Amino acid sequence: PSAMALAAEDVISELTQNGHEAFWVGGCIRDELLGRPVHDMDITTSAVPEEVIAIFARSIPTGLAHGTVTVLQDGHGFEVTTYRTESGYVDHRRPDHVEFVSDVKEDLRRRDFTINAICCGLGGDLIDPFGGEKDLALRMIRCVGDAEERFDEDALRMLRCVRFASVLDFSIAKNTWRGLLRQRDKLAHIAVERVRAELDRIVEGPHPRRGLAMLARCELLARGKAPFPWNGTDLAAAAALTAGIGELESAHLRWALLLHALKQSAQEADELLRAWTFSGTTRTSVVQVLRVREAWTAALEAVPPGEPGGTDLLRRRWIAAVLTFGVEAAEGWLSLLAILPADALPAADRIPAVPARDWIAQMPLKSLSELAVTGNELAEALEKRPGPWLGNMLSALLQATASGDLLNNKQELLLEAKRMDGHEL
Ligand code: ATP
Ligand code: MG
Repeated sequence: PSAMALAAEDVISELTQNGHEAFWVGGCIRDELLGRPVHDMDITTSAVPEEVIAIFARSIPTGLAHGTVTVLQDGHGFEVTTYRTESGYVDHRRPDHVEFVSDVKEDLRRRDFTINAICCGLGGDLIDPFGGEKDLALRMIRCVGDAEERFDEDALRMLRCVRFASVLDFSIAKNTWRGLLRQRDKLAHIAVERVRAELDRIVEGPHPRRGLAMLARCELLARGKAPFPWNGTDLAAAAALTAGIGELESAHLRWALLLHALKQSAQEADELLRAWTFSGTTRTSVVQVLRVREAWTAALEAVPPGEPGGTDLLRRRWIAAVLTFGVEAAEGWLSLLAILPADALPAADRIPAVPARDWIAQMPLKSLSELAVTGNELAEALEKRPGPWLGNMLSALLQATASGDLLNNKQELLLEAKRMDGHEL
């Protein structure tokens, strides 16, 4: 057993020695039974929070009203939650009342899916009143109890349902799916951040296409608070175009691919990602890739196939895009090109023939900081005050150097600067 499991065992045995019941519960049991890595362990107990706090030297009252205390043991933190039932979900997200109860089966009943409603004690015996183990074997997401009711209580469960089905590559039980379809409008009650977090886990997970296809079929996202400018057909078409999405390592490239498949301009993507409360870093990384796409598409359109010197023109435009949007975004776009099916490519016939990746590798320098001359040196050599001209000149020198027309050497660059400035040489 892992160090975390041993620490959890100590917590559970401490609780039992004090006359309480205590079990591992939820995600950790599910993942353990599936042979998946367990990232944290939750504990459910008959002890009330005050009792838990009294037993352990180090604890944090994380959510006393809901019965949750975080117990720190050997460097690990465990959420220890008192058996409880929930009722009165007026906002379709959080219960208005929780009540501590003495029967663990009552606690399992409030949980969302059968596979998340299994617990296990020190002896290793499972308590599984809703057939979670059987559903794990069937690879099935099934609500505990009446699906329609459970989704009505907490609308986030609908997205969790699709997320678990996607990440685990499971099916959704018929009644559960039907309940989801009946309750899908309730997603409007869920905060955008929560929706985004679930969507993120679908997109970043091992089977994103599965989740996307399900989302296309149930048209759930269109019912959410965040703008969602695609209907199920658009999303289904996008899911088909993103066949290789699971091969992309980085989450931001997956988002870029999806937004590309959904025919979003860089500007539209930027606005959507903002509305969906993505972090500024993620948003920028995604949008830069789409900006490279736009620069690249414009370059392909500007240089007709077969034009003499066309390839070199294209190479210069590409280098300009790399300098403007960065190597990472440029290479990101090339990774997308590599997995997009031919019919989703701009000017598809041209791209395979163009060694854009080699063009990046051959650039003698990739950013202004590598240029062998500084703005001050230029201003001094030309005996001019720094001004807007300086930025333009630096860009021109950078472009020329990166394209291989000029050596990245101070003398060369200063000479070229003087020539550009109209000096007699
Ligand atoms: P993961 O942490 O990998 O997302 P998990 O199953 O541990 O999976 P958590 O969100 O950490 O999910 O929740 C822990 C447990 O709490 C779940 O296994 C489930 O039993 C219960 N649970 C969580 N969210 C809900 C919910 N919205 N409705 C009902 N039960 C829930
Ligand atoms: Mg968890």
